[in-house]
Amino acid sequence: VRIEDIPSSQPQKGQVKLKVSVCGICGSDIHEYQAGPVLIPRSPHPLTGRGTGPVVLGHEFSGKVIEGNGKWKEGDRVTASALILCGECPYCKKGQYNMCLKLGSVGFASDGAFAEYVVVPEYSLHSLPDSVSDDMGAFVEPLAVAVRAIKRSRMEIGHSVCVIGAGPLGLLVLQVALSAGATQVFVLDPIEKRREVARNLGATAVFDPHEDGVGRKIAELTNGLRVDCAFECVGSQEAFDIAVKVTARRGVICMVGVSLHPIQVPFYRLWGHEKEITTITGYVDEFPSAISLLESGRVDVNPLITGRISLDDLVEKGFEELINHPDKHVKILVYPGDKK
Ligand SMILES: [Zn+2]
Ligand SMILES: [Zn+2]
Repeated sequence: VRIEDIPSSQPQKGQVKLKVSVCGICGSDIHEYQAGPVLIPRSPHPLTGRGTGPVVLGHEFSGKVIEGNGKWKEGDRVTASALILCGECPYCKKGQYNMCLKLGSVGFASDGAFAEYVVVPEYSLHSLPDSVSDDMGAFVEPLAVAVRAIKRSRMEIGHSVCVIGAGPLGLLVLQVALSAGATQVFVLDPIEKRREVARNLGATAVFDPHEDGVGRKIAELTNGLRVDCAFECVGSQEAFDIAVKVTARRGVICMVGVSLHPIQVPFYRLWGHEKEITTITGYVDEFPSAISLLESGRVDVNPLITGRISLDDLVEKGFEELINHPDKHVKILVYPGDKK
């Protein structure tokens, strides 16, 4: 990853150009940095023609419209879905946009928002109300994922929940579960700082997954039943095994984290207890819900912000900092307008 001057792209028909205010660093940006290309296409993308890099990363952002068209005016404060869609395939026709046969993402299949300007499809824009700051606006995208995770798990009012992994997504899932009516939300993470943030955000109890008898302790706190829904927000065999252990009979395990390796499933334990595994990828129509959760204050992202940096420091004080000091960080925000 390098920082350099490139010509800013011009909006085509159906696109809008934005001045980026804030862009958050996502775990998938780190994946590209350490092991890419993962989401960056390996051959020209059918909708954008981009592939194999170089590409500008960054897909969790807020900004201002600088070149409007009919619907959007200069100065409008917005955030954008990262989905690039064909609009024509059978899944798009059914409104199942995250299943589009030609699906691409801003910041992987087209230039993203670790830049002063970004050009995005008009259909991806959502306005930000005054009470949602630019920083909060950079969390709408991951929050939409958390909202969808709750929907996919079919969590109901009165359910008990366990979140495994208190990174940015886990801490958002915790808050959405509480606002959706979960009576108990347990959070597991080996990092003390993240457990503390989870506790301050309303977790019923927090645990280090390496301490003895976590499954038994959660059983004691749930009348022996264990939780209705577990959210695996890591993407590892170890985290999945914990998810199986902490769920009740007929519980649902929702896989939020991504594993690039196969995960073994203890079939007999799932079978005997009619447990379900579900997955969640991206979002479909969750942006308005995410914005309203921020607007109403039911989701607080301030405790998740552990760093604010300029674009020139993206690698050193952003990617490297997150890789080397996960004990100090949750989310680092980048301000591309703040040139040194
Ligand atoms: Zn992301
Ligand atoms: Zn499609």
